[in-house]
Amino acid sequence: MPEKIHLLTPGPTPLPECVRLALARDMLHHRKSEFIAIMHRIQENLRLLFGTVGPVLPLSCSGTGAMTAAVYGLFQPGEKVLVAEAGKFGQRWRHIAAARGLGIVTLYAPWGEAVPAEAVNKKLDDDPSIAGVLMQLSETSTGVLHPAREVGAVCRERKALFVVDGISAVGLSPCPMDAWGIDCLLTGSQKGLMLPPGLALLALSPRAWKKAENTTPGCFYFNLVKERDNLVKGQTNFTSPVNLIVGLDESLAFLLKDGLEAVYRKQWALTMLARSGVSAMGLELFAKENFAWGVTSVLLPKGLNGAAVLRCAAEKFGVLMAGGQDHLKGRLVRIGHMGYVDWVDVTAGLYALNQSIKEVGGFCGARDYLEQALAAWSAALTVAPGKALPLTHS
Ligand SMILES: *Cc1c(COP(=O)(O)O)cnc(C)c1O
Repeated sequence: MPEKIHLLTPGPTPLPECVRLALARDMLHHRKSEFIAIMHRIQENLRLLFGTVGPVLPLSCSGTGAMTAAVYGLFQPGEKVLVAEAGKFGQRWRHIAAARGLGIVTLYAPWGEAVPAEAVNKKLDDDPSIAGVLMQLSETSTGVLHPAREVGAVCRERKALFVVDGISAVGLSPCPMDAWGIDCLLTGSQKGLMLPPGLALLALSPRAWKKAENTTPGCFYFNLVKERDNLVKGQTNFTSPVNLIVGLDESLAFLLKDGLEAVYRKQWALTMLARSGVSAMGLELFAKENFAWGVTSVLLPKGLNGAAVLRCAAEKFGVLMAGGQDHLKGRLVRIGHMGYVDWVDVTAGLYALNQSIKEVGGFCGARDYLEQALAAWSAALTVAPGKALPLTHS
């Protein structure tokens, strides 16, 4: 193994030094004033990031815990939800809803495609008893971005709550929950937020809070209404993940130092860098139109051993990337460009990918693929602010 490892995985991600140092601090007591001040301070940045005026709850769990908290706190057994499923994480919504005893209508789209908002609209027309729509903003298993803004507009007209797993989107691409009509937005710490795993964040709209207040929570640990009441006092229901909260205070300040627009522009440019490089290599992008801004999925040529490519990239170049899941195992390479990752890391990832494919399969594309990739990156950075981003934060 090379001595320096480049983590280009869609979580966990590399951490900035200021965050690592903050994480190394000795314990603060979670019921004492210094910690309470930090809890209050992070709210302002979290609201900016989530695009909401409401509270953003920290929860001690991985992202899936927050998905569970949402389903168990917003819906009663017997209620019906619509699950948008076009990958591994859509499937997870379905499994959580089933565990809660909900009736489930599934709207499938092929892996690699987005779930169309019109199809959600039609399902809700067909069955007005549907109480919620569960969707990913970014489906990390395929690298697809679902049309959250459009689905939010559909749900807003109806009683169905729009519940969005933003785990690989928050801090990476726009997700202004209030403006888009998202009723529940949640994320985890180890993707766009430049933190270790173990902390989740969740926010509700006013009508989702009303629903939560009228729903008996499905488990003792996740009680969203009690969490909200405690948050007013800068507290969590149980012992807070103190170091992660201290780290979050640093990571939010670091992430947002130049404003939200700068965060998205950086991510957009990294996405252009990765996508242009992959195309110039002669490889197929798996997510064609609606692509995520934190992960780029690459479909490998048939017959090429994906596991061997990933192994070569890791062992020879020290670049760790992810493969495909389920039926795409061995067929996809997923290049994560989230967390504390810059153009140098992504360029190294492209080089490692190209060289590893050459080594394993003898296949290679344009000789100037890195130049093409870097040209796309710099073009994406230099256009007038607000112009090039297809989804600006409104
Ligand atoms: C990573 C991820 C998850 C899972 O999060 P955990 O922290 O592993 O529980 C869920 N949804 C999406 C979209 C993700 O990217």
